Amino acid sequence: MQIVVGGGTAGLAVASRLSVELPDQCILVIEAGPAAWDEEKINIPGRKGSTLGGPYDWNFTTVAQPDAAGRVFNINRGKVLGGSSALNLMTWDRGARADYDAWEELGNEGWNWENFITAMEAVETFLPDPRYDGDGVGYDGPIHTTINRIIPPHQEGFIPALESLGVPENKASLGGDPLGVMTQPSNIRASNYTRSYSPTYLSIAGPNLHVRTNTTVSRLSICNSDDGVTVDGVYIGDELVQATQEVILSAGSVQSPQLLELSGIGQEEVISAAGIEHVLSLPGVGENLQDHLRIQTSYYLKDQYTSFDDVRVNATLAAEQLALWRSNEESLYDYTGSGYTYMTWDQALGANGSAHMAALARESADLSNPVDAKKLEYLTTSLNASVPELEVIFSDGYTGVRGVPAVANHTTRFFTLIAVVQHPFSRGSIHLNATTPSGKPVIDPNYLSKSYDLQAAKEAAKYTRRIAQTPALRKFWAAEYEPSAGAVQTDADWEQFARNTTLSIYHPMGTCHMGSLEDGGVVDKDLKVHGVQGLRIVDASIIPIQPSAHIQTMVYGIAEIAAKKIAGDYQ
Ligand SMILES: Cc1cc2nc3c(=O)[nH]c(=O)nc-3n(C[C@H](O)[C@H](O)[C@H](O)COP(=O)(O)OP(=O)(O)OC[C@H]3O[C@@H](n4cnc5c(N)ncnc54)[C@H](O)[C@@H]3O)c2cc1C
Repeated sequence: MQIVVGGGTAGLAVASRLSVELPDQCILVIEAGPAAWDEEKINIPGRKGSTLGGPYDWNFTTVAQPDAAGRVFNINRGKVLGGSSALNLMTWDRGARADYDAWEELGNEGWNWENFITAMEAVETFLPDPRYDGDGVGYDGPIHTTINRIIPPHQEGFIPALESLGVPENKASLGGDPLGVMTQPSNIRASNYTRSYSPTYLSIAGPNLHVRTNTTVSRLSICNSDDGVTVDGVYIGDELVQATQEVILSAGSVQSPQLLELSGIGQEEVISAAGIEHVLSLPGVGENLQDHLRIQTSYYLKDQYTSFDDVRVNATLAAEQLALWRSNEESLYDYTGSGYTYMTWDQALGANGSAHMAALARESADLSNPVDAKKLEYLTTSLNASVPELEVIFSDGYTGVRGVPAVANHTTRFFTLIAVVQHPFSRGSIHLNATTPSGKPVIDPNYLSKSYDLQAAKEAAKYTRRIAQTPALRKFWAAEYEPSAGAVQTDADWEQFARNTTLSIYHPMGTCHMGSLEDGGVVDKDLKVHGVQGLRIVDASIIPIQPSAHIQTMVYGIAEIAAKKIAGDYQ
């Protein structure tokens, strides 16, 4: 029996594929959360975000972040069958070739663009659309993707706005070159406009796949003998579930490292301080935490334009639109964002601005760390013409930090430009809490702790204002609402704005990263935990270096590659 810990994004994908590839083996998935097949907050695209902070969310938080005005950040993670794929905002994209080739260059043989794109294409069934005209999409996978049919009228200004700033349209952004401005797909099943997420994989699984929901693994069962350290099962409280083959940890970037530490694998001082017997020293466990930073500006629409805000504040309209969605007709509740741009600093800031960012990157990078060295290469070699450093999302409605005005009504309608910094240098950690080891771990991403990251957040926010002020978009809005042009003008104002309002865009990764022991790696190229028999990790925690993209397609790709490798070992 193979045991998969965590029925989330990667967990269900790897388990389902294994059940097909290894029909004679039993595959057991153990998931802490419930199945929520009929939950409209998950299924309705326009309700994305409504599950955050609720029962399907683990509701983790960071420790106070000194460089972000001492704020404590929410770290949302799915606690439900499907994991974070049930909570995510359905952006479906991919990074640049170099983002994937970097894995191999960091010493992980076979982990490159060519293998990743084959795996990522196997994940999806893309609905052909005249707005996409390139390679890089799949047509026969379990996850359905489509370019959203709801495009608000004011989004029509987004592509021309970017074009007027010198950023060309890209109709083939999933094929390894994401630079440009485009209309991107979401993971939506177009036949009924529902979220398509990892539980869909179960439809391809064989009868040898079993799922236990509402069941939390407390630690791994470890056999420590002269032959070394072997994992032979998992504990659910006092119950031992034995694995005859392997245990696959897919508990995600927060809990995979925590489960290793609860089982005695990781840094001795962390584990001993929690009163747990230390079994194996693996200094990389819980380290190398990377995340993408987001910062946003919002604009009041002119009176003649409606927006997604209407469904939030107008109960009658909301009921009407919900009825339409439920009868499978076009509805405002179909909405997910589809306007995106990915660009280099050269494109966003020109040669001088870009050179300044490169100088700050040199100051921020720890060159003894191969991940930092690679990120610096993106900025200081010819790669700086092909690897995006800045993303801007056109988001209908208000999604900022300031909060909707106290007297929100149908005339307070917005659009928001969300900018995302692709390769910040701040790295942090996730470790168990010595006083409550099984409780919420200590998460410290060190947001904005590097000069590059702070400047990037400032420039990103400033650039969103520049986009909004192009004639193509200016015609749609009446006034800037956040930060409010009157309030933020000087460099010092932007710095304060960045420290006060930068958020995570929900992509923690890297806490059990793939790499050599010398480089602090936790798993090898076959996803096996260094120095441990019978244990692999398959989830976002193994990503060594963050890509210039949202990460779910990469996570699914990891699961597809993992399934081939694991099955190959038994066939
Ligand atoms: C709010 C939000 C918005 C996002 N938006 C996007 C987006 O638009 N596009 C995009 O590409 N990416 C997005 N992401 C990121 C992406 O969804 C995640 O990176 C990805 O889903 C992580 O997959 P995973 O398999 O590593 O972990 P998860 O999918 O989180 O799976 C981990 C699973 O393990 C379970 N688990 C944990 N501990 C235990 C235990 N001890 N016992 C049993 N089960 C356990 C959890 O309940 C969970 O189901 C978003 C994420 C969030 C949270």
